[in-house]
Parts: sequence; structure tokens; C-alpha cells
Amino acid sequence: MSACSSEESSVSGDSENQKEEKDKDQEKEKEESQENKNKQEEKTGKTEKDKEKEEEEEEVASTAPAITEPKYKINQKNWSVQPLNESINEKVVLLTIDDAPDKYAVEMANTLKELDAGAIFFVNGHFLDTPEEKKKLKKIHDMGFMIGNHTYSHPFLPDISQEEQKEEILQLNNTVEEIIGEKPLFFRAPNGANTDYTKRLAHEEGMILMNWSYGYDYFEPYMDAKKLTEAMVTGKAPEIDITYSLLKPGANLLMHDREWTAKALKNIVLGLRDQGYEIVDPHAIKTK
Ligand SMILES: [Zn+2]
Repeated sequence: MSACSSEESSVSGDSENQKEEKDKDQEKEKEESQENKNKQEEKTGKTEKDKEKEEEEEEVASTAPAITEPKYKINQKNWSVQPLNESINEKVVLLTIDDAPDKYAVEMANTLKELDAGAIFFVNGHFLDTPEEKKKLKKIHDMGFMIGNHTYSHPFLPDISQEEQKEEILQLNNTVEEIIGEKPLFFRAPNGANTDYTKRLAHEEGMILMNWSYGYDYFEPYMDAKKLTEAMVTGKAPEIDITYSLLKPGANLLMHDREWTAKALKNIVLGLRDQGYEIVDPHAIKTK
């Protein structure tokens, strides 16, 4: 708990910049993998129809939830959620809950579930030490929420060795996989502070990096449900000098597992929807 009290120091987590080159590389990799697939098809002699049949059979046998076709991607420059094409609604916001599952995550998941609003819970390993804590994570995942990696013990990554950075990220991935049967697909560094190494590692581990657009629940004046609701819904936080709105289509909203945030959550969702924003389903965000 104490490790998280300092939390993210900036309102907006857009300090990180990633090169567009990377996107291009990813596109290329994708093309290459499609090419390999085609080659494999030639080798095995399986027709597209055979494959479809196999896939159908698999679908019947599997109890896994239906795979949602990607509609959005995370902009790696400003961390917003962007539609993949013009026919997709751009007026969305992404809800994220960090430092989970501490005391309020399950309650928050219940609130969101009742409102049919998706979210990513960014979890820490030090909240997953006991069977009770593991149960909480399983429950949140079973309710349909995405689980993201927020490091094992919430360190300031630039201050620790590369070996320790690796341990912080991989150990948590393994812990999460042991509990829910899959590894996280998103990574958010504590305080939004990545190193070149953690960026590379997250990518190698198949995780999408993200900081956030705005979040206010870790600033003293907004540790109050009513004030926080107002700030999250308007995008403005005048008591910390944010007098302009950071609420825009695609905004990536940072919240935490905290008492005042849990209390405010329902009205935050309703207030955003009142303004015509859709809460994006994180499963619709492109990860691979
Ligand atoms: Zn955190």
C-alpha cells in the first residue's frame, strides 16, 4: 500500500514518446506471419474450408468467451484510444483502475458490471500474495474485466537495475497467469515511468504499453467522491490548476483502487455517458 501512495505524479501520462517506426515494424511482422501461414497451408494441403470446419468444432468444444474483433488501438504517443477505421465510434473513453486488487477493486468491478462498463484493472503482485487476494483477481477476471500488468511491487522502474525491472514485470505475468490462466496484454509502469528496457520487454512479452490521458484521484483536493466525480466528468481539476478540459474522444482515464474512487465510480460512468461518451470495451482494443 505504502509503495503506491506517491503514485503517478503527473495529471496526464503523455510524457512518453514512441516512434512510429515501431508501428510499421509491427505491421511488417504481421504481414510476414500471414505469409508464413499461407506457406503452412500449402504444406499441409488443408483448404480454407477444412480449416473453417476445424475452427467450428473448436468453438463448440471451447468455453472461452467469443473473441472480439479489434476496433481500436492505443495511440503510442498520447495513450488515447483510437478507432481503427472511420465507421467506428470515436467518442469513447477507456476506464482503467490501478493498484488493484487492494481493498475496493471487487466493489468497483461490481459497480462497473451493473453499468455494463468495461475496464482494465492494472494489478500489482504485492496484492496477490494470499489465497483471498488471488480469489479477488480471479473474480474480477471472471466478471469479464481485462487484467493489466502494473509491476510486482510498484517500484519506480528507472531507479532499479535491468535485472530487477525484468523480475518486476515477468514475475507478475507468471503470477497472473497462474491465477487466471492467461498473461496480461497491457502494461502500465508505476508513475508512467518506463525505461527503454521496460518498453522493449513489454513489447517482447506481447503487451501493449499505456500511460493515461488524465486522472485526479491521487491529488489531495480530489480525494473526495463528489469532487472527484466532477473532475473526472468534466476533465477539469481547477484545484490543481487544470482549468481546461482533458476530456476528449479516446481519453484514457486513470483511476485507482481507493475508497473515494469506488464511491464516485457510478456517477463518473453516468456523467461521461450523459455527454455522449461510450465506455470502450478493452477487449476491442488491438493487442497483437
Ligand atoms: Zn500505481
